[in-house]
Amino acid sequence: MIVEKLKELLGEYVVLTGNDIPERARSDASRTGHQLPLAYLRPRTVEDVSTALRACNDHRQAVVVQGGLTGLSGGANPHNQSIVIAMELLAGIQEIDTEAGTMTLLSGTVLEVAQNAAEENGYLLPIDLGARGSCQIGGNLATNAGGVRVINNGMTRDNVLGLEVVLANGTILSSLNRLDKNNSGYDLKQLFIGSEGTLGVITRAVIKLRPLPTSRATALCASNNYDDILKLLHLARQELSGLSAFELMWQSFFQFSSQAMGAKSFDTDYPFALIIEQSSQAPCLEEFLGARFEEGLITDASIAKSEAERERFWLIREGLALAELPDLIEYDVSLPIGIIDLFVTNVTSQLNGEFPSIHISVFGHMGDSNIHLCISAGFIDGYVKRRITTIIYEHVRQFRGAISAEHGIGILKRDYLHYSRNHQEIALMHSIKRTLDPNWILNPGKIFAAPT
Ligand SMILES: Cc1cc2nc3c(=O)[nH]c(=O)nc-3n(C[C@H](O)[C@H](O)[C@H](O)COP(=O)(O)OP(=O)(O)OC[C@H]3O[C@@H](n4cnc5c(N)ncnc54)[C@H](O)[C@@H]3O)c2cc1C
Repeated sequence: MIVEKLKELLGEYVVLTGNDIPERARSDASRTGHQLPLAYLRPRTVEDVSTALRACNDHRQAVVVQGGLTGLSGGANPHNQSIVIAMELLAGIQEIDTEAGTMTLLSGTVLEVAQNAAEENGYLLPIDLGARGSCQIGGNLATNAGGVRVINNGMTRDNVLGLEVVLANGTILSSLNRLDKNNSGYDLKQLFIGSEGTLGVITRAVIKLRPLPTSRATALCASNNYDDILKLLHLARQELSGLSAFELMWQSFFQFSSQAMGAKSFDTDYPFALIIEQSSQAPCLEEFLGARFEEGLITDASIAKSEAERERFWLIREGLALAELPDLIEYDVSLPIGIIDLFVTNVTSQLNGEFPSIHISVFGHMGDSNIHLCISAGFIDGYVKRRITTIIYEHVRQFRGAISAEHGIGILKRDYLHYSRNHQEIALMHSIKRTLDPNWILNPGKIFAAPT
């Protein structure tokens, strides 16, 4: 039996079974997974990962990689016949090259640990998201995480120079490039970034660091209409060097989150609130906002005078109180930027028509054309959930958007992949999967269904 074989090869410290398997292994942060795996592996070396995968491949044994379990698509959820490879012990920073501005690290390293190490060396690690204290760099790579700095630094894939990956058959593919420019053949690392654990296990990475900004200014602003916000974004891109966040909140979300925090930011309820942040050596946010106020593009604004005030702005945007709503469903979609508000109006009107007591909160990384819709119908059953999802994704398809902007497909969006990818694209994805993982052992059933 495979579990006995793994114990023999890797030892009982690495291979946990029965009551030793931690409860958290059931699910990622979507809280949609329910089963404990057959065994829970904690490899300490890349060779351990290779040994485990070779054995699992020989036994046609399904494997699910788990990072920090902060994913929101059910991508890391196991079933009771799969084996989890948890990356928590394969952690640590191996090198910071301060001349080249690169960091080489193991994939189980928690993002915040890597961020702090970069800062101590005078650099910025250009990946950042709310789950920074728990998510791992390997999980960020596997989901191609976005986050709150994409407008300035791009997605995770834009900040990676090299990767080491263990393939399904146990081969260690070392592609730890450190060069900014390397066009010697296919850029293999990009295949694995965003592949959600279905093509290989990421074990090591080389990340490109950026200069650490010495100063930052953050403002909470209000605006009356979406067209003004589009103009504001255009001007911010032109005039604010180091524009590091442009986050929009529709009124219902802003009111809900502010009330939950007991925060009162403006005297009037405006249709939109937004956070604009500039991280540069010499921020000029105040002058910029003054000019926009004169032009009428914003109706109110307040610049954080302290770190505590800045944190308060961001806490409103993070909207942690949403988690208290019953049966919350979260959607993470991308749309052409010019029609986002039209999309929100159309979706909201249809949902309110069919489910009159529904709660709909909308906010997101507007500068990246990415919004999150958080929906609570007060109760949920399979039919209601499918109906709400179909309404939203039909509108996404109509506007040629993407059903996942940054959280990935995992299991939760799998049946809707065709809403934003065409038949030929999905067929090529299948064929890449078959080439790299012919026995379909890596995270089977995630992104698309496994062959029967
Ligand atoms: C409060 C909060 C805020 C968030 N904010 C954002 C945000 O702004 N932007 C954003 O993009 N996401 C966000 N997320 C989602 C989540 O944090 C990201 O998807 C993150 O990148 C997942 O990392 P993880 O280590 O927790 O991965 P996990 O949840 O453990 O796994 C995610 C997927 O990656 C695979 N995987 C994990 N590690 C590896 C590896 N080493 N090799 C191969 N495959 C692997 C898993 O099999 C799974 O399919 C947020 C989540 C929370 C809870």
